[in-house]
Amino acid sequence: MITIAIANQKGGVGKTTTAINIATALAATGWKVLLVDLDPQGNASTGIGLNAADRERSSYDMLIDGVGVAECAVPTRIPGLDIIPATVDLSGAEVELVSVDDRTGRLRAALHRDTTHEICLIDCPPSLGLLTLNAMAAADSLMVPLQCEFFALEGLSQLLQTVERVQERFNPDLGILGIVLTMYDRRNRLTDQVADDVRSCLRDLVFESVIPRNVRLSEAPSHGLPALIYDHACSGSQAYMKLARELIGRLPERRKAA
Ligand code: ADP
Ligand code: MG
Repeated sequence: MITIAIANQKGGVGKTTTAINIATALAATGWKVLLVDLDPQGNASTGIGLNAADRERSSYDMLIDGVGVAECAVPTRIPGLDIIPATVDLSGAEVELVSVDDRTGRLRAALHRDTTHEICLIDCPPSLGLLTLNAMAAADSLMVPLQCEFFALEGLSQLLQTVERVQERFNPDLGILGIVLTMYDRRNRLTDQVADDVRSCLRDLVFESVIPRNVRLSEAPSHGLPALIYDHACSGSQAYMKLARELIGRLPERRKAA
């Protein structure tokens, strides 16, 4: 299974929106996809239409009690897409993990035992704590949504330092799949400036596809649907389809066929 962590310690940059819509796009292309909600706020779980009653087992049980993927994953209304939901318990996990064995390798161990999914996307919380470290230790690669705003690049160096630390200590195979510019507003000159700066600084690391600011993307979660289903034709959905194709193109050769 290919595992991609979607991380940025800033909140509100588009991690969850990216996780939900890329997961949906991949499932629509025929992949067997697992989405892991690793944010105690549970936005990915809610945004995909999972109510509290459907969250009997969660990412907390997987991390803390070692419950397997098969027991924790629930199907979504999107064929080919399963989710391991998050519950509020997860907010305690950051502290509880401190005192368990192999505190950064729990997620990796659980995901390694899964044989039913081909690709796993992990929606990380807005921090660089033990939950995000578990995601980075479990992942082959990292996808970083970056909001096109003035402070976008601040914080990125801290994130990249964390990646290096993870590579040295727990996961030498962790690579950066790409940085995706989100909430791009072409009428705003500052946005353009930021996008140019990020590209000249990080070059090929930045995905060509850019996610526009699009109100349909922000409406979709309140309907419990990925934007790709809620309004397939909107500019945001189209951008996520394009990004998904680009992402597949960046996966190592032997893994593209699905
Ligand atoms: P994160 O997971 O990084 O905190 P979210 O994906 O939850 O970020 O996005 C933060 C808020 O912005 C949410 O209300 C979401 O619906 C909205 N949003 C995300 N991406 C876009 C976009 N491209 N255009 C408009 N609104 C967006
Ligand atoms: Mg989120």
